[in-house]
Amino acid sequence: MTQAKLIDGKAFAVGLQQRVAAGVARLVAERGPKPGLATVLVGDDPASQVYVRSKGKLAAELGMASFDHRLPSTTTQAELLTVVRQLNADPAVHGILVQLPLPSHLDSAEVLLAIDPAKDVDGFHPMNVGRLASAAPGAPLDFPVPCTPLGCSMLLQDALGSMAGSTAVVIGRSNLVGRPVAQLLLRADCTVTIAHSKTKDLAGLCRTADIVVAAIGRPNFVRGDWIKPGATVIDVGINRIPADNGKTKLVGDVAFDEAVQVAGRITPVPGGVGPMTVACLMYNTLQEARRSAGLPFAAVA
Ligand code: NAP
Repeated sequence: MTQAKLIDGKAFAVGLQQRVAAGVARLVAERGPKPGLATVLVGDDPASQVYVRSKGKLAAELGMASFDHRLPSTTTQAELLTVVRQLNADPAVHGILVQLPLPSHLDSAEVLLAIDPAKDVDGFHPMNVGRLASAAPGAPLDFPVPCTPLGCSMLLQDALGSMAGSTAVVIGRSNLVGRPVAQLLLRADCTVTIAHSKTKDLAGLCRTADIVVAAIGRPNFVRGDWIKPGATVIDVGINRIPADNGKTKLVGDVAFDEAVQVAGRITPVPGGVGPMTVACLMYNTLQEARRSAGLPFAAVA
């Protein structure tokens, strides 16, 4: 039995980062200023600290300025909004990332709404959500698009070229992943079905799909016999489960060992969609810096 071709997100992300670094160098040489990414972390969640640190480090490696704002877990909504407004007004900052989840006493919807849509490099501001929802098929994405969905779309574009007329099933309807992925596939002229926990006969639905995107948060949930032979499978899931050696390991939402026997192309976990998220954050920051300098949208992907 033939095995699916692996979609190497790690390699694609490295290439994207190199193109972003070249774009940063070009921007600085031609017009300046340096693209600037501000990260805001409230509290001391260890995983969030790691994410924020790695984003700042990568921004610096790609030639950007990075501004790291650490606020105590006791920060009030008013204090956090003040920081966001200061960053909105700072001309050296082109991208603002407020690390989610926020501590439970804070209203993240209000915080996301306060971010200048032109600096919303996570693409979660309702204005950018609306832009994506109303984007015409094939029109340039000249506004920030959520990073993980953008990464999925870049990998699909690279692997398949035109997706026009393909049937796509997106499992998951979160604002973070499922919905924006579905919007991007619709923009790419796919015929899209969004599935969720109330969907009937999910396995049968998946078997009709040329493209399956799994964004569920359940380890090995999508089985090999759900996949149409030759289909393309994008596994967004990141789940930590116990491993045989007593440690833990990362697996996706797709039973990889089964699906790889049936699919035409598939992303592994780790090394698939995961590395694309932070690379797309850098891509969005460069695009916003270009726009702030009055330069047109330029696809560096
Ligand atoms: P989420 O907000 O929990 O959404 C999960 C979605 O899956 C929901 O729409 C839910 O349906 C659906 N679902 C749950 N159980 C289901 C079932 N039995 N059958 C069908 N649908 C079901 O999760 P998320 O934030 O979208 O993240 C999804 C996964 O992607 C997670 O593993 C997360 O760690 C991963 N992730 C990875 C990256 C990356 O960088 N690669 C980034 C973000 C997220 P309902 O709406 O009906 O509840």
